[in-house]
Amino acid sequence: MKILVLNCGSSSLKYQLIDMDTTDVLAVGLCERIGIDGRLKHEPEGKDTFVSEAPLPDHNAAVKAVMDALLDKDHGVISDISEIGGVGHRVVHGGESFSESVIITPEVKAAIEDCCKLAPLHNPANLIGINACEALMPGVPQVAVFDTAFHQTMPEKAYMYALPYEMYEKHKIRKYGFHGTSHKFVTGKCAELMGKAPEDISIITCHLGNGGSLSAVKNGKCVDTTMGLTPLAGIVMGTRCGNIDPAIVNFLMEAEGLSGKEVDNMMNKQSGVLGLSGVSSDFRDLEAAANDGNKRARIALDTFHYNVAKFIGEYLVALNGTDAIVFTAGIGENSGSSRQEICNYLTFLGIKLDPEKNAQRGKAQCISTPDSPIKVFVIPTNEELMIAQDTDRLING
Ligand code: ADP
Repeated sequence: MKILVLNCGSSSLKYQLIDMDTTDVLAVGLCERIGIDGRLKHEPEGKDTFVSEAPLPDHNAAVKAVMDALLDKDHGVISDISEIGGVGHRVVHGGESFSESVIITPEVKAAIEDCCKLAPLHNPANLIGINACEALMPGVPQVAVFDTAFHQTMPEKAYMYALPYEMYEKHKIRKYGFHGTSHKFVTGKCAELMGKAPEDISIITCHLGNGGSLSAVKNGKCVDTTMGLTPLAGIVMGTRCGNIDPAIVNFLMEAEGLSGKEVDNMMNKQSGVLGLSGVSSDFRDLEAAANDGNKRARIALDTFHYNVAKFIGEYLVALNGTDAIVFTAGIGENSGSSRQEICNYLTFLGIKLDPEKNAQRGKAQCISTPDSPIKVFVIPTNEELMIAQDTDRLING
């Protein structure tokens, strides 16, 4: 069976068509600038990349353009729409309603709609994508896979904020956590690499990409995570500040004469390692600048590594020790120097990296030395495959 995986953003749509018999990716693509002008890049397996600049006025047009690309006689990969057995949608916020992926029904759509106030940039786009698929592929089962679902096993003491309790009751203000699909995927892979069941191990998973989060996973279930009500919380990120003194928001509004929205924008888009360094949000640029003697790039990298290491410390407490630490996503998978610098804070635990293995890329493997009491892994994440697998499982039982 072939599963189409869709990730609808506010002005973009990423997709993959995956053959579940082989887990081969038959096509991967991206629609950008939806509602502005439009651009589609379609990369079919074994064929030339196709790029179109035809207008994409809305998400319906984008889903239609994806269908046309998949079916095209030259750069297509299927000959009939009926070859698509199901569609898996990445949905950012499932609130407290979803602790697992679900087949999309009118009730599920209403619950996703309910969560729009918690993720106003993301959930509306996800719903538009779902509706567009229903219109273009009537009868094809659709599944919602939530970024928040994996974290729904957190206990109250981990997800409650110490605000008046009514704020939780009235507005559902609590920690939700994100990147759940990735944390779940690498948890499963890590257990596999350790030759154990996820239920039998404790892991700290570090998803370090442009956005980043850590999770404490006990016996296969998330017990804490760094992101919160929104993906702004937790570690220092590419352009997001992560945890800061909450009084800074009001201070900045007064000192800089900014609105709440403007401070929010500053914290989301102009902060993190970009704000600290003034160089870039990209770790490749930062590493190059720091090596050239740029002091602020060095400060940004040091702050990031120290920050991640301290959260690992927190989660050692949450888990009462851990069997493994997993690095994944853009930085976690590719930056050996970041992994090394983070692990330099953990030598008191006896953690030691094998320099040769730490220098390798693209491979799921243990990178700590055999005598390291806590194993360290690099595991490339694959959120699309996880979404496709959940979709396949829910459709086919
Ligand atoms: P997201 O999905 O959140 O946009 P990714 O997981 O794709 O992010 O990670 C992107 C980030 O990974 C880049 O901004 C960059 O900082 C980092 N990255 C990618 N390749 C490398 C590399 N070779 N060395 C260091 N950092 C890298």
